[in-house]
Amino acid sequence: MSSSDSGRQGVCILGSTGTIGVNTLDVINRHLDKYKVIALTANQADEKLFQQCLKFNPQYAVMVDEDSAQRLKQKICGAKVDTEVLCGVESLEKVAGLEDVDQVMAAIVGAAGLLPTLAAARAGKRILLANKEALVMSGDIFIKEVKKYNAELLPIDSEHNAIFQCMPKHFESGLENVGVNKILLTASGGPFRTRSIDTLHDVTPEEAVAHPNWVMGQKISVDSATMMNKGLEVIEACWLFNTQPSMVQVVLHSQSIIHSMVSYTDGSVLAQMGNPDMRTPIAHAMAWPERMLSGVEPLDIFEVAKLEFEKPDFERFPCLAMAYDALNEGGTATTVLNAANEIAVDAFLNKQLSFMNISRVIEKTLENTSIVEADNLNTILQADSAARLLSLDLVKQLEFNR
Ligand code: NAD
Ligand code: MG
Repeated sequence: MSSSDSGRQGVCILGSTGTIGVNTLDVINRHLDKYKVIALTANQADEKLFQQCLKFNPQYAVMVDEDSAQRLKQKICGAKVDTEVLCGVESLEKVAGLEDVDQVMAAIVGAAGLLPTLAAARAGKRILLANKEALVMSGDIFIKEVKKYNAELLPIDSEHNAIFQCMPKHFESGLENVGVNKILLTASGGPFRTRSIDTLHDVTPEEAVAHPNWVMGQKISVDSATMMNKGLEVIEACWLFNTQPSMVQVVLHSQSIIHSMVSYTDGSVLAQMGNPDMRTPIAHAMAWPERMLSGVEPLDIFEVAKLEFEKPDFERFPCLAMAYDALNEGGTATTVLNAANEIAVDAFLNKQLSFMNISRVIEKTLENTSIVEADNLNTILQADSAARLLSLDLVKQLEFNR
């Protein structure tokens, strides 16, 4: 433990003003004897970050946006906190690697989270990984850096956290060596699981972000509606658990009570259950291998009464199929998939693209990109930028022809 403060673990939260960030602070607030907030970061939400600084008095607060950083500085100046305000992308990397930081919650949304999360890996921290896009973009490099610098990688995504809880020790050596024959990755199916496909053309952003079971940021909510979220999670699972796409079966479970399962060669299937509340995986990963209170209500199994499962419909959800294909293709294919998805979702949220065209932008971006080996970070970052430009163009073309 490096935190000098009376044995408490030092925590840096990348993306503290988002849904995961706020839930993380809620858990920390219940355990101020164990954890100390060293750094908080956000993109533009200066007022929210200011309120968090007042409450947790971190050493550093980083705002990526310069104007927002100026506003935060002024607010902090007149308040009774000793927080130093930093600005810019490099500062995210700086605070993720600070000596006093033991755990880094990686909860920035999208590709923007990759470099600061890699910085945490290179500084040998415990990484609490919510930012699945980092692994989707550059899984191979990311996992290698975690190993090289002796960092610890613990999943926050509820499904991956559940799988981690159901895995035997030493699963890193290969699932076939530890008697695992399948990962059963559960999916709620989002808000459009049963809605008639003909009516999906004029879905609004408001309808798409209204998830039936979880309260989440806008981007992941749209990803849940297209089921690209599950596609990204299949990719995430393969990197986290060192396995192949054929070992990961998506299971529709609309109740979101079982958060995923692991099937063993002896016929056992282990599941992790609980109310759908991200504070459970957050508390689990922060305290691991111990357990601590998270604030989540205990599951009332009698109220649940029945558990239901279905096979996913790949025609209704083409994004899920595209994610499996990109994963099988390897190289920069998943980098391109992720970049195109971020552009398409952003355009949809800004009412510049229809819901059904999200998958078309991704499909066409992949069709028109040469996939290369993803063996260094520059190649990944170049593939990401090129795919973004191409997708932006496709958004314009598709909308023009609508
Ligand atoms: P959110 O939109 O609520 O919050 C995103 C955070 O990232 C905010 O603090 C924002 O200021 C910051 N941010 C946004 N753009 C940035 C940029 N360019 N540079 C630096 N910071 C930036 O998102 P969320 O729902 O909290 O999700 C965060 C991550 O966790 C995503 O990768 C998501 O897929 C993953 N995740 C979320 C949930 C959930 O329940 N919300 C569950 C599983 C995984
Ligand atoms: Mg998830």
